[in-house]
Amino acid sequence: MQAYTDSADVGHFIHGQRVSGTGSRSQAVFNPATGARARKLLLGETADVEAAVASAKAAFPKWADTPPIRRARVMLRFLELMNRHRDELAAIITAEHGKVFSDAQGEVSRGIDVIEFACGIPQLLKGDYTEQVSTGIDNWTMRQPLGVVAGITPFNFPCMVPCWMFPVAIATGNAFILKPSERDPSAALFMAGLLKEAGLPDGIFNVVQGDKVVVDALLTHPDVKAVSFVGSTPIANYIYETGAKHGKRVQALGGAKNHMVVMPDADLDKAVDALIGAAYGSAGERCMAISVALLVGDVADKIMPMLAERARTLIVKNGMEADAEMGPIVTRQALERIEGYIAEGVKEGATLVVDGRGLTVPGHEDGFFTGGTLFDNVTPDMRIYKEEIFGPVLACVRVKDFTESVELINAHEFGNGVACFTSDGHIAREFGRRIEVGMVGINVPIPVPMAWHGFGGWKRSLFGDTHAYGEEGVRFYTKQKSIMQRWSESIEKGAEFAMPTAK
Ligand code: NAD
Repeated sequence: MQAYTDSADVGHFIHGQRVSGTGSRSQAVFNPATGARARKLLLGETADVEAAVASAKAAFPKWADTPPIRRARVMLRFLELMNRHRDELAAIITAEHGKVFSDAQGEVSRGIDVIEFACGIPQLLKGDYTEQVSTGIDNWTMRQPLGVVAGITPFNFPCMVPCWMFPVAIATGNAFILKPSERDPSAALFMAGLLKEAGLPDGIFNVVQGDKVVVDALLTHPDVKAVSFVGSTPIANYIYETGAKHGKRVQALGGAKNHMVVMPDADLDKAVDALIGAAYGSAGERCMAISVALLVGDVADKIMPMLAERARTLIVKNGMEADAEMGPIVTRQALERIEGYIAEGVKEGATLVVDGRGLTVPGHEDGFFTGGTLFDNVTPDMRIYKEEIFGPVLACVRVKDFTESVELINAHEFGNGVACFTSDGHIAREFGRRIEVGMVGINVPIPVPMAWHGFGGWKRSLFGDTHAYGEEGVRFYTKQKSIMQRWSESIEKGAEFAMPTAK
C-alpha cells in the first residue's frame, strides 16, 4: 500500500494508481485545529472523469462475471485491512475534519459495519424462483449490476458515507467512482489503497478529487449508470434533477434539522445527556445531530439550567487530545456561517443562553474553533429554527404538548432524523407512527440505522426512491431480470395468439 504522508499532494486514484490528473487547478486542505494549510488538493477535470469511467467500464464485465462469493472474499480481506488500520484512518479524519479522535474511530466502525454487510452479498443476491408457473415452465428473478456507478460525498463523514455506497456497489458487481469532499479528501485515497491491497481488480474502485466540474462530468457521462449523493439539500436537489435528466438512477440524501421532543415524563438527566451529546458531538456537523429541542410543558424550566451548565463547560480543543469533547469547525467559512446564524438568532429575538462565539483555544489561536451555543425561546418563524446551521448550536422551543410537537416536526421541510424522550409507551408508539421523518429514535438521540436496515430521510432530506445501504442499497445498485424457461419436451405445437395463462 502506498504510504499516506502529511506533506503529499492529494490527487486521484485511477486504474489502481495514484495519479495527479490532467488539470492545473488546486485547493488547500486545512488542519482545522491549527488553521494551517496541511495539503494541496489537485482538482480533477472532465478528462480525469473520462479516464476513470474508461477504466471502470473496461474492468466491469470481468468483475460482474466474478462469482459473488469471490467478490465477497475481496470484501472480507478489505474488512480485515480496515480493522487493522482503523486508528490510522481515524487520525487522517481528525487531521482534516477536526472531529475528536474517538468520534473518528466511531465513524470508521460504522463504515466497517456496511463492509461486513456487503460480505454477505451471495445471500443477498439469491433471487426468487417459482417452479411450474405453467406446465413445464419455471420463472425466476435475478439481480444484476448496473455497470459504472458514482458516489459524491460530503465533508462530515469522509470514511463512513463513502462506505454507505461503495462496499455494496462493488460487492453487487459494479465498478465505482468516488468524488469525495474537497475539505477532507485523504480518507478516500487511504481506503483506495486498502482495496487494492485486498485484491480488488484495477478500475473497480476509482477516486476523482474535485469540485462541480467533476460532479457535472459524472452527472452527464453516458456510461455512468447511477449516482449516489450525500450532502446539502440544494445540491442534492440539483444532483437528482440533473442525473435523472441524463437517464441515471439517483439517490440524493440532503440536509436536516433534527428535533428531539422531551416529554414531562422523560428521565430528564438522560435527556440532558442525550441533547448535549447529539447537539455538540462532532461540533454539530452531523446530518443526524439534534439541532432543535422541543421542550414540552414544564420541561424547559427544569432542564434549561442543566443544559446551560453543560454547554458552558464543554471541553473544546484539538480533537487529537484525549479529553476533547468537541473539536474545531471544518473551515473558517463554515465557522463564520455558524457564528453569523448566532447573530441572526439574537436579532430575531431568541434568548441567547450560552454564546460560543469567539472561543480561543490556547496554543491553537488560528484554529477554527467556536464553543457550544444554546438558545431558549426559539420560535418556528425564526431562521435559526427553519434553516440547517450545521454547527454546535442548539435551539430550544417551548411547546405546550405532544400534539404541538408532532405538528411542528411534520410541518418542517426536512425529515431526516427525530427523537422522542418519554417513559410512556403509548406516546412512544404514537410518535413512531405519526411522525413524518425517515429515522426515528425513542429514547435514542441519534438513531442511525444499522448496516442491514438502510439509511434515509423523508421530505427534502432525500430525493429518490431508495435509502442508502442495507437491502435498499442492494436494490439501488442492481437491476432485476425475470427469466421464464421451458424445454422442448413441454413445448406445445402451434402458435398461440391469446395472452399466455397457466396451464
Ligand atoms: P455539500 O452539499 O456542500 O457538498 C457535498 C458534495 O457535493 C461535495 O462532494 C461537494 O464537492 C459537492 N458539491 C458542492 N457544491 C456543488 C455544486 N454546486 N455542484 C455540484 N457539486 C457540488 O455538503 P457538505 O457541506 O460537504 O456536507 C454537509 C451537508 O451534508 C449538510 O447539509 C448535511 O446535512 C448533509 N449530510 C446529509 C447526510 C444524510 O444522510 N442526509 C449525511 C451527511 C451529510
